[in-house]
Amino acid sequence: GFIVQLPLPKHIDEQAVIHAVDYRKDVDGFHPINVGLLSLGEPCLVPATPKGVIELLKHYNISTEGKHVVVLGRSNIVGKPIAQLFLQKGAQGNATVTICHSRTKDIASICRQADIVVAAIGIPLFVKKEMVKEGAIVIDVGINRGADGKLHGDVNFAEAGEKAGYITPVPGGVGPMTRAMLMLNTVEAAARQSGKTL
Ligand code: NAD
Repeated sequence: GFIVQLPLPKHIDEQAVIHAVDYRKDVDGFHPINVGLLSLGEPCLVPATPKGVIELLKHYNISTEGKHVVVLGRSNIVGKPIAQLFLQKGAQGNATVTICHSRTKDIASICRQADIVVAAIGIPLFVKKEMVKEGAIVIDVGINRGADGKLHGDVNFAEAGEKAGYITPVPGGVGPMTRAMLMLNTVEAAARQSGKTL
């Protein structure tokens, strides 16, 4: 398997490098063929962080069917693929998805409507108590190094945790899932290339 550790230095064309990876070994799922297959709901290598979020929900038997999922962030790495996964058919899909980004107006009121909030914007402690509905599930993808030298998520864990039904910590929540899914994708890619299915 290949991963391209992004971001690349400015003088290197990121897309050219991603396109050069054999899509069958693209264990980060960033190649256009995998992106296309994901949007069609066909078997593919799914980006590791979004896949890890889905696995977390599956592990805790949390169905997203009919739920309102609000995704904060529209990056190709997290926001867009996680939204695609929640739209797919299945126990961790079938959701109604809203994607918020830097140009979205009144994010707080949209967040308050969410049964599930996925924060992936890269702004420390952005999601506060008043943005979370009582009992909502809060998944914090953000990893930000604060001025205090410590790691902070995009969610104020102490505040939002008072209202959330479930909440993921940073560090120790989505991050380790990403690494595990990268390994799983590598095994899946190898199996597929040798004509086996897991
Ligand atoms: P990115 O910078 O590519 O995208 C950030 C997104 O947030 C953009 O779509 C932007 O529109 C949106 N945004 C920025 N400011 C906003 C605002 N004020 N209000 C609403 N939306 C705003 O980032 P990324 O690569 O998607 O990563 C997001 C965060 O997740 C970062 O903290 C990153 O370190 C972390 N991350 C964690 C993992 C993991 O394994 N846990 C994996 C990838 C990224």
